[in-house]
Amino acid sequence: MRLKGKICLITGAGSGIGKSTALLFAKEGAVVVVNDINENDGDQTVDEITQLGTEALFIKADVTDSCSVKEMIQHVIDKYSRIDVLFNNAGISGVGQLHEIEPEDWDRVINVNIKGVYLPSKYALPHMMKRKRGSIINMSSCIAEIGLARRASYATTKGAVLSLTKSMQVDYAPYNIRVNALLPGTIFTPFVENYLKTSYDNPDEAIEQIKTRQLSGELGRPEDVANAALFLASDESKFMMGSPLYVDGGVVFGKNA
Ligand code: NAP
Repeated sequence: MRLKGKICLITGAGSGIGKSTALLFAKEGAVVVVNDINENDGDQTVDEITQLGTEALFIKADVTDSCSVKEMIQHVIDKYSRIDVLFNNAGISGVGQLHEIEPEDWDRVINVNIKGVYLPSKYALPHMMKRKRGSIINMSSCIAEIGLARRASYATTKGAVLSLTKSMQVDYAPYNIRVNALLPGTIFTPFVENYLKTSYDNPDEAIEQIKTRQLSGELGRPEDVANAALFLASDESKFMMGSPLYVDGGVVFGKNA
């Protein structure tokens, strides 16, 4: 019960890492607010949490839409009067070298992955500042630290999220609000399955190729990242501020020569 009674809002919690985190937070005693753009998936996450005997609420909102995000935050405040943890997890993939990326695809990735961190934070922060409490977890990626082929737009967004995290931490430390970033490596989720299918002729070969850039013999699982998110959400990480937390099977710091 490491999150007992905490009100935790997770964006993009209908699938993958967000869903796994929602279930783990619920098992650890949190009241989880599940956000997603996909209603069926969001409802499914809430159903699974409810089956655990824990309270959860689904709010459909597009994290790039300022009005919807503002309403979502107000809805949480009206119902629970606070937000203890905000996990800005929603994100989409972007594939291609820079010259191949169409402007509308570039904008979409930038919007979801950066504006999708800015907006929920913007509207949640004043409530955290009033209470002088809160933990914000921003989803970056180990791609923020390394060069990877054909990922220009995506890498741009995850680097930006890491910079934003540090900047936010400085501004909100006086309010006792912690802001940290998660930097996963390749985690086997629907997002990665889709990326493998659309980017490689042979997805199985691609998985083997991806494994060669990490030290672990396995790809990550959503639960691996959920456990790291749990640590950042809980008071156990109270001395972590503005930190990047790597969950990458040794991609960034390992040398698999
Ligand atoms: P996922 O399985 O695709 O889950 C992401 C969820 O976010 C989906 O349910 C998606 O809905 C939702 N979403 C997309 N756009 C949204 C929007 N505008 N508003 C609200 N929800 C939206 O992906 P994942 O692998 O769990 O990734 C979660 C986060 O981790 C992302 O930020 C990703 O960049 C990051 N990450 C993932 C990996 C990895 O290897 N998987 C590695 C590093 C970082 P739809 O399905 O309808 O699009």
